[in-house]
Amino acid sequence: MVLLKGSSMIRVGNGLKFIAGAILICGAVTGCADQKKGMDRFSKPIFATKPPQKARVIPTPVLPPTPQYVQRPVPRPAPQPVQRPQNVGSEAGWIPPGGIKNRWQEIVLHHSATTKGGAVAFDYEHRHVRKWDELGYHFVIGNGTDTGDGQIEVGSRWTKQKTGAHCKTGDNYYNEHGIGICLVGNFQNSSPTSAQLASVDKLVLFLSQQCGLSADNVKSHGGVTHKTDCPGRRFPLAAVKRNLTLAQSNVRTDMLATAGTGR
Ligand SMILES: [Zn+2]
Repeated sequence: MVLLKGSSMIRVGNGLKFIAGAILICGAVTGCADQKKGMDRFSKPIFATKPPQKARVIPTPVLPPTPQYVQRPVPRPAPQPVQRPQNVGSEAGWIPPGGIKNRWQEIVLHHSATTKGGAVAFDYEHRHVRKWDELGYHFVIGNGTDTGDGQIEVGSRWTKQKTGAHCKTGDNYYNEHGIGICLVGNFQNSSPTSAQLASVDKLVLFLSQQCGLSADNVKSHGGVTHKTDCPGRRFPLAAVKRNLTLAQSNVRTDMLATAGTGR
């Protein structure tokens, strides 16, 4: 009896042994067509030889094209109109409905001696703290706190062409005949902003033209009363007066040039 690898003996009944491997010998000798079947039954190949390995051709994977970074134009926000402070540049708003009375002989410049504020805040203080009838100034020029930087606010006194409450003297001349302009800020400690100075130049020129005034009529509160530092040692009064003289000269030159060319 030949036992091949993979054969096994099975005890059946009274000591009879059945050689399972014999079946496989039969298959080997007779060329039984059941060889493959036998392999399947014993799950291990006996005579099978491995087929020659063919070189596997691994297909080159076709990859999707690498996405290219496309620089897209960044959408720019639509340009917005520049928000200009109310009243700046709108000289028409500086002329009261009833016109400018022929009473104004002086322009008196002030600072608020506060770091912030505006016509509304000062009006409240003048009414409720100082017990005045309303805002004492005729104009207020903002510094970007309560109102815009350089914003010119028209006080209710100017609208009514009413006597000021900003420069008290014995005869009350500067309240009766002086136009009070207050710039927001404390110019003992800091300088007015460039926007405030541009606005005060513009307003002083406008009022001077309307009332027939010159630089000699532009004064500081302290320069009149000698009882206050207003509008502060950093306020450039001389420059304001010089700019007015220069602007008036330019206006006259333009008028002469226009008259000369017949425009
Ligand atoms: Zn003052």
